[in-house]
Amino acid sequence: MAKKFSPKGFGSAAVHGGHVQDPNYAHQTPIYASSTFVYDTAEQGMKRFSGAEEGYIYSRWGNPTFKEPEAKITALETFGLNIEAKGILHASGMAAISTLLLSTLKAGDKILTHYSLYAGTDDILRLLLPHFGIEAVVLDLRDLNKAEEAIKNDASIKLVYLETPANPTIQIVDIEALTTIAKRHNLLVACDNTFATPYLQQPLKYGVDFVVHSTTKFLNGHGTAIGGILIGRDVEWMKTKITKTHRMLGGNSNPFDAFLLTLGLKTLELRMERHCGNAIQVANFLSQHPAIAKVNYEGLASHPEHDIAKKQMRKPGGMLSFELKEGFEGGKKFMDALQMCTRTVSLGTVDTLLCHPPSMTHFSVPKEQREKYGITDGLIRMSVGIENIEDILSDLEQALSV
Ligand SMILES: *Cc1c(COP(=O)(O)O)cnc(C)c1O
Repeated sequence: MAKKFSPKGFGSAAVHGGHVQDPNYAHQTPIYASSTFVYDTAEQGMKRFSGAEEGYIYSRWGNPTFKEPEAKITALETFGLNIEAKGILHASGMAAISTLLLSTLKAGDKILTHYSLYAGTDDILRLLLPHFGIEAVVLDLRDLNKAEEAIKNDASIKLVYLETPANPTIQIVDIEALTTIAKRHNLLVACDNTFATPYLQQPLKYGVDFVVHSTTKFLNGHGTAIGGILIGRDVEWMKTKITKTHRMLGGNSNPFDAFLLTLGLKTLELRMERHCGNAIQVANFLSQHPAIAKVNYEGLASHPEHDIAKKQMRKPGGMLSFELKEGFEGGKKFMDALQMCTRTVSLGTVDTLLCHPPSMTHFSVPKEQREKYGITDGLIRMSVGIENIEDILSDLEQALSV
């Protein structure tokens, strides 16, 4: 039985949301490490398969350990909104995105999206979907007129796919304005909410149909597991065709990773508050530093979409990027000099993570193409952690002066 109270605060929803009393009265949802589930009788097996009786069948289809994070994240994405939605936990953010794309698009359809998407998403759109006759139209969707014109002139566009703030340039698109345009033309809209988390931004509020997350990042928060979730507001569609696609593709989560995700989620509000509080101080420090040419952070008045971020986000987030005046070699030298902060890709963990996209994630992308996306030679991406701010700033200070 779930606790009978309706949380007034987001933090309480993060702690209690989605929890169901364990049949053995375990305080925490246990790790149900079982591939399959048994029946008392053949009759019962038949009822489970036909849907006449609720119950688990096989862990690719669902597992008791998935329930809490699934329901918790959905409760957070709809917190205070009076909207129904359903979430399906996945093995990774990419698995959730694959289920979304393969269950909503068919040959001849197009997807409208913008520059500077997560590299894996960009790869699916460029390298995989064309094999199935699905094409991506990629535009600068910060220009609303361009978006409307593209949609008007091309009836094969069926889905508008947004990611905001975007990786690694922290570009922002206007979720409300783009959803309004898409809905005028009866299009579906999906939003990757990984960088913001539901604490900072709730795309469903603006009429978005699907939210996807890489739960690997802020939602897990501790860098212990890969995971993803697909949340849809058409509950019936989620329960039928989309569940079916998810089961066919086999992108299911696993009990251990789902357990770790549940633990991480409980402190989401606390962690996000600290990530955001630290990030603005880091952004201010870097903007005044003589070795830095530019800081990309939506919380700074100098960010081109500062006002849109203010409108759609509770606070600017924990992610930023900045350009070193010394370019590629300067970037490598800075990275090597870090003492406390961690040199790695990924993001959203309690420790501060830095990466140098031109020598790491985007090394294989030709320089001209990189620069078109704003990924210049001296660009550093930073996921600001929850350490004490004085330690973060002093590590940056010493690494910048090496
Ligand atoms: C990491 C990430 C993904 C992919 O998620 P995985 O869990 O690595 O599969 C998708 N979108 C964004 C914005 C990400 O940061």
